[in-house]
Amino acid sequence: MKGFAPYGETRAQKTAILLTRIAKTLFVDDCNCILCGAELDEKKRSGLCGKCLAQLPLNDGEICRKCGRVLANEADYCNTCQNRDRHFTVARSVCVYEGESVRLVRGLKFGNKRYFAGYMANLMTDKYLDEKFDCDCVIAVPLSEKRKRKRGYNQADLIAREISRSLKLDYLDKVVVKIRDNEEQAKLGTLSREENVRGAYKVADRQAVEGRRVLLVDDVLTTGATASEIAGILFKAKAKSVSVLTFASTKYKVASETKDGEEDHEDEMV
Ligand SMILES: [Zn+2]
Ligand SMILES: [Zn+2]
Repeated sequence: MKGFAPYGETRAQKTAILLTRIAKTLFVDDCNCILCGAELDEKKRSGLCGKCLAQLPLNDGEICRKCGRVLANEADYCNTCQNRDRHFTVARSVCVYEGESVRLVRGLKFGNKRYFAGYMANLMTDKYLDEKFDCDCVIAVPLSEKRKRKRGYNQADLIAREISRSLKLDYLDKVVVKIRDNEEQAKLGTLSREENVRGAYKVADRQAVEGRRVLLVDDVLTTGATASEIAGILFKAKAKSVSVLTFASTKYKVASETKDGEEDHEDEMV
């Protein structure tokens, strides 16, 4: 613009610059890998270049049939699902929570990269179809108001809305609400995690879930205590089934459930 408008840009030029900036923020991520920034030839459903997509640790090996976490042996169920009441019907995740999947989850959650949600939701929608889930409505694991205020958004809600849109399922907003601010789950073992979430949520609109097959959505499942608690109250409200879909789940490890070996992902389905 220099030389062209020596006394500063005209109003029309200013508008043009502003529009270009807006267009860039809106569309630039369609043309670049959301993790490494490499240019993409075309828009990708995952938002990832071939290299980053290949590095995404997909959760398609031996898993617990109930909670969907990776198992260290060839058992059908993890110890937690064998020994504890698990109220959800089934839980599955796209990725194992490690490497590139952690970068995506943390980017969405702590890096304010809200646009990650759409790409993560695309992969979760594919998983939903692969797993032949059959639900009629979507609910996101809620955050407490306090935590939501602090972050400005609930990452699970962003993902869940996108999934409901692409699968054309009802989105049930604020039907499950968090009524108690529990302690950070990451610091607790499985048993205390179960106790910690007990009574922390309630179904605010029982009619909305009665007789329905619910898809419960979150970013990460760790022990599954939160998923189980919410599924329990949904069944009490006469939901027909509760299938859980998360972007990632941690590997089943006795150690990770008994001591604080987790990163700071306090809002996940721990
Ligand atoms: Zn990349
Ligand atoms: Zn399990």
